[in-house]
Amino acid sequence: MTTLSGGPAASYATQGTFPHAACILIRVRGSMTRRQEAPFRMTTFADLKLSEPLLRALETEGYTTPTPIQAGAIPHLLEGRDLLGLAQTGTGKTAAFALPILQRLEARRVPAPPKGCRVLVLAPTRELASQIDESFATYARHMRLSHAVVFGGVGQGRQVDAMRRGVDVLVAAPGRLLDLMGQGHIELSKVEVLVLDEADRMLDMGFVRDIRRIVATLPQARQTLLFSATMPPSIAELAGSMLRSPVRVEVAPPSTTVERVRQTMMFVDEADKKAAIEKLVKSPKVARAIVFTLMKHEANKVAEHLTKAGVIAEAIHGNKSQGARERAMAGFRSGAVKVLVATDIAARGIDVDDVSHVFNFDLPNVPESYVHRIGRTARAGREGHAISLCSAEQRAWLRDIEKEIGAPIPVFREHEYHSDAAQNSTMRAPVLGGGGGRGQGRGGSGSRGAQNSNRRPSGRRAA
Ligand code: AMP
Repeated sequence: MTTLSGGPAASYATQGTFPHAACILIRVRGSMTRRQEAPFRMTTFADLKLSEPLLRALETEGYTTPTPIQAGAIPHLLEGRDLLGLAQTGTGKTAAFALPILQRLEARRVPAPPKGCRVLVLAPTRELASQIDESFATYARHMRLSHAVVFGGVGQGRQVDAMRRGVDVLVAAPGRLLDLMGQGHIELSKVEVLVLDEADRMLDMGFVRDIRRIVATLPQARQTLLFSATMPPSIAELAGSMLRSPVRVEVAPPSTTVERVRQTMMFVDEADKKAAIEKLVKSPKVARAIVFTLMKHEANKVAEHLTKAGVIAEAIHGNKSQGARERAMAGFRSGAVKVLVATDIAARGIDVDDVSHVFNFDLPNVPESYVHRIGRTARAGREGHAISLCSAEQRAWLRDIEKEIGAPIPVFREHEYHSDAAQNSTMRAPVLGGGGGRGQGRGGSGSRGAQNSNRRPSGRRAA
């Protein structure tokens, strides 16, 4: 194993997760900021030996400096190595894989295989799949490459049409991809590169068998990239079975990527939460905010309450049609919608740079989700503020969250809704039932098991 920058992460390679030949470990500190210095000596995209059409596209996008994961991954991916990337959204990981993939596609031009693709990217949700597809289109704007995206929740006609002649790059949610493969519309025997993005989330959503079924139809000789924000044993196992001599690139763990986020906890009774959130989002400091709820129906109610109170708000969750979700996202991106009210999975992969505030209307019952949620603000080097409302019922979850981030969250008490009962509550954590009661929107397509698994035994259950 070659360690370019050592650290505890080296243990995966030495523990025999990858019993193959040399495994290079690159550990990079800190997440992306626009002003940051890239690690190692390389500081420009040209230094990374990216081709001229890609450099031109990056210039148009205003990217000047590779992020740590880009600097760490791109040279190895250009050489055709497999890669295990430990990074979450916001680190620049999409470009880290899209740029070298595009360069290699362009360097060896062959026609796209009918009904097939040369590059397959699997992603857990339609939002993330769409964003990845858009990123490929953006970076390939000066190349002649074709691309398509397939996911559930919309009619399949256009996706089937798009695939008829084959494409260079296909981005897909696993459920719909398998459906289309089953109907004979997609065939993957010519895939050269496979990317699994947000692999931990795909496993949480119950896609593991689907992924294995898809991968079984791919050629053995291919380049494989796996990205995951966390490395539970299930991911290490999947990576071990699919990657060959991978380079491992790791950006700082989630708790340090959110260092720039100012965090505040407010103790509020359930009955006062709507009034409290209304007051918070009306603050002139709030430019653009995401409000998180646990339940889909609650997301609707909060959005309705805010709309009635004169705040432009939209709810986004798995029960909304694709069109409604896209409209809400477009409005949020353009600034026409000030507040997006979202459930956890619906918000995964939402990539909007100027979110000034994240509000937790409910605390998440899974501690890692807290980190993912607050990471929606303070992106791209900006500052951000995450304010959480904690009721007596959710007090027990706060203890788990503070354990997860390794520090207490500062409490703000001087407000009209402060509740000592909530702050001092010793109530046991509620058990969340299954059957769709949770507010976790479903991802790509198909009903595929757990939406959000608890990663630690705590007596809680998520649907
Ligand atoms: P990702 O982690 O792929 O979701 O990317 C997060 C955000 O960073 C996206 O808005 C990208 O457009 C942006 N981005 C990616 N690479 C860079 C870079 N080198 N410089 C500035 N912004 C970037």
